[in-house]
Amino acid sequence: MKAITGADNSAVKRSGRIIRTGFIAVMALIAGISLLAVLALQQSKLALDKIAHNDQLAMELASRMLQAARERSIVLYRIVTTEDPFERDALMLRFDELGTRFSMARTRLRMLELDARARALLEEQGRQIAETVPRQREVLDLAVSERREDATRHLVEKALPAQDAVMATLNGLLAHQASESQRKARELWKMQGLAAWLLAAIGAAATLLAAFIARHVRLGMDGLVGEISASTRNLEEVNRQLQFQKLATDQHNIVSIADIHGNITYVNDRFCEISQYRREELLGRNHRILKSGVHPDGFYAEMWDAIAGGRIWHGEICNRKKDGNRYWVSTTIAPFLDDAGQPYQYVSVRTDISDIKEAQQILQRGRDELERLVQERTLELAERESVLHNITHFAHDAVIMLDPAGRITFWNPAAEGIFGYPADEILGRSLEAVLVPGRQANACLRDFAEFQQSGKGAFMGNAIELMARRKDGVEVFVEISLSAVKIKDGWHAVGIARDITVRKQAEQRLELLAATDPLTGASNRRRFGEALRVEIARSRRYGVPLSLIVLDVDHFKRINDSLGHPAGDRVLVELAKLIAGNVREMDVFARLGGEEFAILAPNCDANCARPFAEKLRRVVEAHAFPDIGRLTCSFGLAEYRDADDPDTLIERADDALYRAKDEGRNRVVMAAPAG
Ligand code: GH3
Ligand code: MG
Ligand code: MG
Repeated sequence: MKAITGADNSAVKRSGRIIRTGFIAVMALIAGISLLAVLALQQSKLALDKIAHNDQLAMELASRMLQAARERSIVLYRIVTTEDPFERDALMLRFDELGTRFSMARTRLRMLELDARARALLEEQGRQIAETVPRQREVLDLAVSERREDATRHLVEKALPAQDAVMATLNGLLAHQASESQRKARELWKMQGLAAWLLAAIGAAATLLAAFIARHVRLGMDGLVGEISASTRNLEEVNRQLQFQKLATDQHNIVSIADIHGNITYVNDRFCEISQYRREELLGRNHRILKSGVHPDGFYAEMWDAIAGGRIWHGEICNRKKDGNRYWVSTTIAPFLDDAGQPYQYVSVRTDISDIKEAQQILQRGRDELERLVQERTLELAERESVLHNITHFAHDAVIMLDPAGRITFWNPAAEGIFGYPADEILGRSLEAVLVPGRQANACLRDFAEFQQSGKGAFMGNAIELMARRKDGVEVFVEISLSAVKIKDGWHAVGIARDITVRKQAEQRLELLAATDPLTGASNRRRFGEALRVEIARSRRYGVPLSLIVLDVDHFKRINDSLGHPAGDRVLVELAKLIAGNVREMDVFARLGGEEFAILAPNCDANCARPFAEKLRRVVEAHAFPDIGRLTCSFGLAEYRDADDPDTLIERADDALYRAKDEGRNRVVMAAPAG
């Protein structure tokens, strides 16, 4: 705004300067031309006056002299011719008077400014008068003495010619003066012509110069007008923007203006609305009436220090409404400075932030409450952590924690006891370090990849049994229950592990017992049935051969009968031991019941099974049993065929066994092929 006003002022000053300069130049030109013209005219007039005066006077005087001379000649003639003495006296007086008039005119003529020619003529005329006057005097004397004839003769012969000569000279003088006058008049004409030309030339030059100046002024004015109209447009635009801003400011802001003492000189509607004062209650009053008492005096001192020093102040102020309630405003106070840089008024623009302040207070209360809760929870957590620490520290089970990368991050003393690794050795390593590679362990580690993504896995939430290797190399059975914990964005696994080696061994023993014939230690019928199903399935899937050999003690009843049942039992134990020592590791040797046994031989077809059975038969036949000495067994043999199931295979082997009994015992009979 200030800049625009400055440009405007300078344009006005410049336009004034241009107009003034042009006007002065034109006026000076006109004055110069006028002066020159006046001077030229004055000179011309003076010259004319001089000519008119001098020449006309000279001519008039010459003319007067001529008249006087002519009249004197006439008067002289009448003096000579008159007979009346009185008339003669009167004429004589007239004659003298004319002479005086002539002399006076001549004297005046001589005093005039005359050229050399005129002066020479005058001198000539003087000399002629000097000749004429005595001759006239002679004529007069003759007339007075009444000698009229002599007088007449003297007159005609001497006086009149002398007088004529004088008049001729005077005529010459007149003619000369007339021609001189004409010449001078011509010269003057010339001078006047020159003056007219000069005037015309100067006038033209002045016109050109004036036109040039006018053009220059016009160009200057055009520029100025352009500048002023641009300035005006700019001002209009600025004004429009200011109007918008004022409108916007008035609509949304609380605006007031105060003088340098803080006395209110302007308030907008929003100011009145929020403060609850009417405009007339505020104007002229000091801003202090809005003081809420919330801020210390130093707050206002700092504000006054800033704005009185010409700086803009920003801050949040709590004011008091007319009804005593408080309201908060975010305030900007701008000092308006005069040319000396001193504030002459302060403009304040405020926005109502009471809601924000209230929200801040609520937020602060919330924050305080939250802090209190956090403190409480922290204590609670510390307590829980301590409890948890005690639990994990004194727990009999190992507590292990794995981070999302599968690294061990927690390892309690029980874990140290079970796995033999102290915490500082194992933390950061993978659980792989303590697992014995195997089906379960590999599946468990594979499963961990899925767990990392989703926190889920086949092993999660279930107890799994794994073989672990202690630091000292001893393998132990562990049961681990895994659960998932999400910390931040990653899934961590918590494992509770316990050493189940003792339990596992007991289980294995029980399992063994459940599958074993208690008398002979061979597999029992149930175990045999399971093995038969598995091996048939394997043969069926992979096409590998499978053979079943059943054997029965020949005439066992006789042993019982002769030596007693316990002796029979001992024979059975001895026989089982003998056969078990002659079968392959992969073969399943089972007691099917009484004194009947079976050998399931995987990967063994008829060509392999027959010599195998034959070998067993010979071994039994050759063995010396305590108490009884020799005994024999009959063998039935069946090779698995595709049409077989467990029952048909056993059936076919049994049939072969019966045939062996029928055919005389102590022999191997091969079952017919199935189907
Ligand atoms: P064969 O040559 O025809 O087989 O004649 P065998 O006497 O062996 O006849 P069989 O197989 O029918 O008889 C078996 C006998 O074995 C009958 C039974 O008393 C006896 N026995 C069955 N189980 C046991 C057992 O656990 N201990 C003893 N000591 N005897 C048993
Ligand atoms: Mg028998
Ligand atoms: Mg039998």
